[in-house]
Amino acid sequence: MLLQNKNGIQFLQFESFTAHNVMHGFFMRHGGVSLDPWRSLNLGGNNGDPRANVVENRRRIFDAIDRPVESLFDVWQVHSDTIICTDSPRQLDSDPLQADAILTDNPDITLFMRFADCVPVCLFDPATQVAGMIHAGWPGTVKKITYKTVLKMVKNYGSKPENIIAGIGPSICVNHFEIKKDVIEQVINRLSPDGDRFLIYQDGRTYFNLQTANEYQLNLAGVVKVETAGVCTACNTKDWFSHRGEKGSTGRFGALLAL
Ligand SMILES: [Zn+2]
Repeated sequence: MLLQNKNGIQFLQFESFTAHNVMHGFFMRHGGVSLDPWRSLNLGGNNGDPRANVVENRRRIFDAIDRPVESLFDVWQVHSDTIICTDSPRQLDSDPLQADAILTDNPDITLFMRFADCVPVCLFDPATQVAGMIHAGWPGTVKKITYKTVLKMVKNYGSKPENIIAGIGPSICVNHFEIKKDVIEQVINRLSPDGDRFLIYQDGRTYFNLQTANEYQLNLAGVVKVETAGVCTACNTKDWFSHRGEKGSTGRFGALLAL
């Protein structure tokens, strides 16, 4: 990954995406206006941080990659396996649709999502010029949202999986993601026969590797070019918001992607 800094706004980029001039970034928590516990570049709404702060922070991340805020398309992330293909930005005075993956082939759109431990997956097909972003927490992962989004890219845009490049952004590491009985059962049953390979059993506890589970779904769909950030949000709460790492009292960092 490449670390960029623009006017105090720091963000990570995938080298493989930058090589194709795909504008994107995962924004660290510094350089915003929000106060504790959202300090400071919080992009998440409805968590107590005044709306004006979130709007100002949003302006700053769009500025950092030279994209107009009016180009954004975002969704109300609800841990579903719903995928939206969009060819126009979301009107800023309209409500976002409920979904957890977005695809577009329109270069005038900037895909925008928010994270704090869940796995961000970015997709780009240089051949068909299609970009996608996925939000995969454990519910989306057991619903195979990453696998389904690649299939949608193939079906709707004619992408070939072998052409697609993918990136897995900052998200919680396996050592920080203990899960309990109900989730363990869902991982094993719904990801059958592969679920067990993403679980680690240690000292009577069970941990779920969200990152490798989503990388596996990319591979299963035929995507072999995958760049992984290798950054854990909960290991690095100084730089990233982490729901687990900060016991639910935190903000959300932003991710942007545009053709
Ligand atoms: Zn960690």
